[in-house]
Amino acid sequence: MPKRMTDSTLAAALQTPRTEREPELRAQAGNAPLIQVEGLRKTYKTARGTLNLFEEMNLRVEPGEMVAIVGQSGAGKSTLLHILGALDAPSAGTVYCASTNVAALSAREAAAFRNREIGYVWQFHYLLPEFTALENVAMPLLARGVRKTEALAVAANWLREVGLEDRGAHRPGELSGGEQQRVALARSLVNNPRLLLADEPTGDLDEITAGRVFDLIERLHKSHGLTSILVTHNLDLAARCTRALRLESGRLIALAFPPLAGSTSGKNLS
Ligand code: ADP
Repeated sequence: MPKRMTDSTLAAALQTPRTEREPELRAQAGNAPLIQVEGLRKTYKTARGTLNLFEEMNLRVEPGEMVAIVGQSGAGKSTLLHILGALDAPSAGTVYCASTNVAALSAREAAAFRNREIGYVWQFHYLLPEFTALENVAMPLLARGVRKTEALAVAANWLREVGLEDRGAHRPGELSGGEQQRVALARSLVNNPRLLLADEPTGDLDEITAGRVFDLIERLHKSHGLTSILVTHNLDLAARCTRALRLESGRLIALAFPPLAGSTSGKNLS
């Protein structure tokens, strides 16, 4: 089912102030895992009672891994990405992401952390319709105070990286779905983050376009030394990642390929 972010989550994700504590927060990772989650619990209080989404969840992701997360709708995949990307807070447990204790960040520090360390792409591109593709890609740089000429030059390089150097002057409405998602990918990486979090990045695209966008993600993941976590319903794409995990009943279970009979039916989970 298509899923759109709330306006407040999107605004937080695109907000990019810098803080004085940035150098302090940018601890050296050394050989440490890029993501280390221990005893993660996430509880939502709803009108119908308490929803215990994760209990004692653990996850360790090494630098350079490309990890797929699959699971039924409502399993908590987006929530997990939001917690890793400091867009949502854990109820309990420790979450270290890019050597940062994300739960300990203030709202302002969390925004700076995202700007510096996280590239985020979603099922929908969330490009700003009134700006050109080039300006959209430059936006995270402009938001952190990079001069316009420099920001546009860096953005032009990123448009070239995603094969859209001739589409810089186009507005999002003048681009195809696949092109819009390539622009969104360029925007997510323009600050050279270490971690790419992608929430169904190909979920709104036809099969051929989805394959091409995934090829691009895979290429950028390798060429930029990224660590990537991709939520997907597409088991063919999940099988191309270095590791696939299934989120089920609040826990992450290693997925074997081809999927075991009975564990998943068909190529898509929904
Ligand atoms: P998935 O990405 O696997 O489809 P989500 O992480 O979006 O799952 O949601 C997991 C569950 O948590 C769903 O049942 C959803 O309704 C619930 N949920 C998500 N965000 C909130 C919230 N802010 N308040 C209450 N429940 C929420």
